[in-house]
Amino acid sequence: MNVEKFRFDSKAVHFHKRLKSESTSKAQPIYQTSAFKFKNLEELEGYFEGKSPYMYSRVSNPNTDDLGTGVAQLEGAPKGIATSSGISAILAGILAVAEQGSHIVACEDLYGGTYQLLAKELPSLGIEVSFVSFASEETIRAAIQSNTVLLYSESVTNPFLRVEDIERVVEIGREFNLKTMIDNTFATPYLVQPYLKGINIVAHSATKYIGGHSDITAGVVVGDLPLIEKAKSKVMNFGSNLSPFEAWLTCRGLKTLSVRMERHTNNAQKLANFLSEHSSIEKVYYPEFVSEKGNGAIVSILLSEDVDPNAFCEKLDWIGVVPTLAGVETTVSYPMGTSHRALPEEEQERLGIKKNLIRISVGIEDYEDILEAFDKALQ
Ligand code: PLP
Repeated sequence: MNVEKFRFDSKAVHFHKRLKSESTSKAQPIYQTSAFKFKNLEELEGYFEGKSPYMYSRVSNPNTDDLGTGVAQLEGAPKGIATSSGISAILAGILAVAEQGSHIVACEDLYGGTYQLLAKELPSLGIEVSFVSFASEETIRAAIQSNTVLLYSESVTNPFLRVEDIERVVEIGREFNLKTMIDNTFATPYLVQPYLKGINIVAHSATKYIGGHSDITAGVVVGDLPLIEKAKSKVMNFGSNLSPFEAWLTCRGLKTLSVRMERHTNNAQKLANFLSEHSSIEKVYYPEFVSEKGNGAIVSILLSEDVDPNAFCEKLDWIGVVPTLAGVETTVSYPMGTSHRALPEEEQERLGIKKNLIRISVGIEDYEDILEAFDKALQ
């Protein structure tokens, strides 16, 4: 079966690779093992000569390989690897490019956890990061230094859902001979494929739409072959590999990515339209154009002054307050109290993280039920 020739949705269902001896079970087996057996020392030596693929699961495992390969195929990239979380995928991708003495230019409206990694941890490895607005070409260019090696951004940012101009990032990267990296968690390859636009490394928190069911923490990083080989050695040496079972669950999620994203996106568009007309909402943040398939599944809102955010969340009934996103259930989160909590107050203010800002992760329920729940809570 030549999966590479398949279209997007078929690829998402048929990405598994089988070990030769296990060809009859319909579902991919879970290789819940820390290591693999060899008949003798010659066979063990054969592993190091590339004659057999597996030896030790921290290095590689069929289920984690499946996940890396599956996402790489959907992103149109030659290789991908799975990691223990989105953050470890981002770290592995960055360390494939940056080392002590390097400098990174990153967009200022990053996910809070990524900001922490870049602002607090990378400097301790001797890697310096400048955070600038990627909404302007001039600020990106002005931040580039002689030791800059990487431009880093997100395809759709959190919580204001700014859609990155990926072509521009690629263009500036090529002009200055820098590598480029995009976190594609919010858009997923269903909506945006940054690698196919020329980005070198694409990272995902697979905890979100790729897994899709809020039952795993996982990451994937895909991209140029030499960079992903390097990222793989970082994952192996730092021990940030994903467990086989979590990889298996994430692969199960990946198979339904398209159908979930289609429904998520349609529901989100309807909710964004509904809330834009609502008198108790000061502002709705929802992108105008992410792709011809839709504009994503996250809607952020600023409640009017007269709406108490706490009472509003309480009145949402079956819609829970959950500090994550992308599950099949509709949930809300509070950026000031969670993802952007650790930012200094001036930084929160500058970025517009206000007390009345709520981020909605729109699920796949009947949209009428979602709209009704918001309408009731706002009343
Ligand atoms: N990137 C984005 C855009 C996210 O929203 C998150 C988590 O919310 C991450 C990365 C980090 O992923 P994880 O929690 O799987 O480490």
